[in-house]
Amino acid sequence: MQKHKCDLIIYGSYILTQDEKRSLVNDGAVAVCGNRISAVGCKTAIDESWLADESIDTGKSVIIPGLINSHTHVPMTLMRGVADDIPLLEWLHNYMFPIESGLTRELVELGAHIGCAEMIASGTTAFFEGYMYENAVGKAVDQCGIRAVLGEGFFKFPSPFFKTANEAWETITDLHSTYADHGRITTAVSPHALFTTDPKQLVESMELAQKLDTLWQIHAAESVQETKLCLEIFNKRPIEILNDYDLLTKRTRIHHCVDVTPLEIEQIKYSGAQISHNPQSNLKLGSGICPITKFIDAGVNAGLGTDGAASNNNLDMFDEMRTTALLQKGFLRDPEAMPAQSVLDMATISGAEFLGFEDIGALKAGMKADIVAIDMDKIHLKPVYNPLSQVIYCSGGQDVCLTICDGKVLYRNGKHLTVDVETISHEAEKAVKWAIKRLNHR
Ligand SMILES: [Zn+2]
Repeated sequence: MQKHKCDLIIYGSYILTQDEKRSLVNDGAVAVCGNRISAVGCKTAIDESWLADESIDTGKSVIIPGLINSHTHVPMTLMRGVADDIPLLEWLHNYMFPIESGLTRELVELGAHIGCAEMIASGTTAFFEGYMYENAVGKAVDQCGIRAVLGEGFFKFPSPFFKTANEAWETITDLHSTYADHGRITTAVSPHALFTTDPKQLVESMELAQKLDTLWQIHAAESVQETKLCLEIFNKRPIEILNDYDLLTKRTRIHHCVDVTPLEIEQIKYSGAQISHNPQSNLKLGSGICPITKFIDAGVNAGLGTDGAASNNNLDMFDEMRTTALLQKGFLRDPEAMPAQSVLDMATISGAEFLGFEDIGALKAGMKADIVAIDMDKIHLKPVYNPLSQVIYCSGGQDVCLTICDGKVLYRNGKHLTVDVETISHEAEKAVKWAIKRLNHR
């Protein structure tokens, strides 16, 4: 039989395909042509049908789809550890905003490079982003080879990047045109939060999202304190504001949803809006616990996100997956809550839907080649009864041995192929001095 030609075949002990049947392939292989997967199957079948220019044998490993981080602010790696152990509003107003008001394009690009490198090394191949100077983030994303939805954040007060709402709309439109034909980057309209914007701005921004046909993301219902603030300003709860101003739509992506009522969960479900679950950030800021199982039971699509590195303090999706499973079991006093498969779904296929990408999140023919291998040949991962259990309950980002995005190898056996880690680490040390100076002069 004549073999089909492909560019690359990746071999591994197990493949968690995340296809419709959640198939597990033992002793498997993935054939890749250009930036797409051509076939997934057992090694023997793939070798019989496919001939590759190059092959990578990941040995005793579990191959999974590249993980998808549904909520982060990637340049905030620059503020990792600058202020811990304080409440959300104090953290924002006394630490984040004073530093952020002095950010430059160069610093944002540096922070984005650090964050992208961290995500690539820990098996994340796509993320939903929101920050300032997103064209600088886009530059880092483009160079690192990862996939992202970029969101230029805006507030009712001037951003360092633009002074008025009209300037914000122009910036967002420009960002959208810059990446209109980019294979790995899309954009979203990104108001920061309900208490840092005003309703007129929010309604106009949703009109812009409709015009550009993009997603619209916002932080909402993150804590009881935020609800109190919204009640003081608007006499309404956060999700009530979104509902009353027709901001709950199919293109709406809500980050957090910790302080919500059963009616609000129903309203989100009915509208087709989707949510991002960010348990470690919610725990660290003392914001509370999102009733994520209620959202999933109601049929709301939910992605899983780390949030920024200043409130987590890492971008490791393995860490986030483990927390997601354990937290709900303890919170609900139910060991059957949030099983491993549901958690992996959130970090892969549900995350893909959340980011608006149809062809990532699973390993099957026709999907984009976003592929990660986890090295199981480590003592803390032995023995292997169930690869899924191993991925969710005992692997960490540091166990990733191969990261491929869009058919391109970005990271292999501890080495980055698209990021100069030494240079950015050196620059990061310099940025610390700059941030401390900003805080001393606040
Ligand atoms: Zn956030």
